[in-house]
Amino acid sequence: MADATPADLISGATGDWETVIGLEVHAQVVSKSKLFSGAATAFGAEPNSQVSLVDAAMPGMLPVINAECIAQAVRTGLGLKAQINLESVFDRKNYFYPDLPQGYQISQFSRPIVGEGEVVVDLEDGGSVTVGIERLHLEQDAGKSLHDQHPDFSYVDLNRSGVALMEIVSKPDIRSADQAKAYVTKLRSILRYLGTCDGNMEQGSLRADVNVSVRKPRGELGTRCEIKNVNSIRTIGLAVDYEARRQIDIIEDGGAIHQETRLFDPDTGATRAMRSKEEARDYRYFPDPDLLPLVLTQDYVDDLAAHLPELPDRKHARFMADYSLAAYDADVLVADKEAADFFEAVAGGLDAKAAANWVINEVMGRINKEGMAFSDIPVSAEANKAILQMTADGTISGKIAKDVLDIAWKEGGDPRAIVEQRGLEQVSDSGEIEKVVDEIIAANPKQVEQVKGKPKTLGWFVGQVMQATGGKANPKSVNQILRKKLEL
Ligand code: ADP
Ligand code: MG
Repeated sequence: MADATPADLISGATGDWETVIGLEVHAQVVSKSKLFSGAATAFGAEPNSQVSLVDAAMPGMLPVINAECIAQAVRTGLGLKAQINLESVFDRKNYFYPDLPQGYQISQFSRPIVGEGEVVVDLEDGGSVTVGIERLHLEQDAGKSLHDQHPDFSYVDLNRSGVALMEIVSKPDIRSADQAKAYVTKLRSILRYLGTCDGNMEQGSLRADVNVSVRKPRGELGTRCEIKNVNSIRTIGLAVDYEARRQIDIIEDGGAIHQETRLFDPDTGATRAMRSKEEARDYRYFPDPDLLPLVLTQDYVDDLAAHLPELPDRKHARFMADYSLAAYDADVLVADKEAADFFEAVAGGLDAKAAANWVINEVMGRINKEGMAFSDIPVSAEANKAILQMTADGTISGKIAKDVLDIAWKEGGDPRAIVEQRGLEQVSDSGEIEKVVDEIIAANPKQVEQVKGKPKTLGWFVGQVMQATGGKANPKSVNQILRKKLEL
């Protein structure tokens, strides 16, 4: 188990405290149909339009396991370098709630499909920590109560009832809010690479229960509180920080922490008690008699393993080795699979560092600014590659390259045609540049005087020439010609 670095410690009246965090992440499985029924799982459908008789728990209906959900859970386990359990069991978790028509949730308790694994979490300072995975189990999602549709009644939407979730439980290996955020970010990236969860937290496809305790550095584990259903990465950080400070204050005031479930209120930035351990439900787990134990063969697991896509850590290493990228550039590109794929489609045959800079600064910069998804990008990888090729072979200047991207982004069109039609080719012809240089020298005797004593002011002349040529002059030629004419 990792120890907190001094920077992660929180100082209290009685000295430093260490935060200990373990996360239970609920990830909705990417699958066209539900865990035990053929009903669809699309987000945002009309209420109760995706409900089979099984999901509505009509008497006599029997669950039938969806093989694709099993495959997705195994793929995820493999991606988390985890033990795959060839035999696992579905249990009934019994509780009453209006959005749970069965009166129980089918889940896995003592024998989950996936056992111990690990996630290497990249931190902002360039370091990393390894967070252990305790288990991953499959379970059904519940429906949703709607309290705002009618003055006197609550409604229930069962579209989500029976949708497959993976609950991914970490060990209490996380030591700060930043680590918790980085862990969920990395886990989400792995799930997206695997195609097993879309990771969309706004739509509830990924949500976390955050367990927090505090202790004196390296001391005994403290009593934890569990903050339920935190649904954004930013909020996970806020909830951890608030909760750690709350617990420290109680202990330092002579109080004790009692294990309880809490809720984070984004409006107040505080957590508040929901139920204590004494009020905790007894779920009376028992094996679901409608389902046989789930038995997998090693061949089945090996086949899924053989077809796993390249995951972020491997891709990161390859980007550094094959393209000689700096670790930071590789981090940025690999964090988003679409960005990584885009980079590779652009980079082939070009200077990889230049391609990485272009994709990170120009392409991702514009995408982030406009808050769009990579899949909605208006200028294809091929078109971006064409712009970089024109820059590399001197057809256009670096400045014009950005203008061409702007034009293609807003108006569409093929970059080569844009350059040709608008006459944006770089002017390397020394005759033409000399003419402009001569004019500028003649018109600015004062600056000419100045540059003799202060050669650094040459940049001003370069700027003037670039302006006069609409940014099309080759900056290298401009520099050479200016130095010659100004006798520098
Ligand atoms: P439960 O069903 O009671 O929530 P789980 O075993 O499913 O229990 O999950 C417990 C979670 O709490 C795990 O993520 C684990 O890492 C975390 N955890 C356990 N002990 C502590 C502790 N002392 N401080 C913080 N987190 C803890
Ligand atoms: Mg739990």
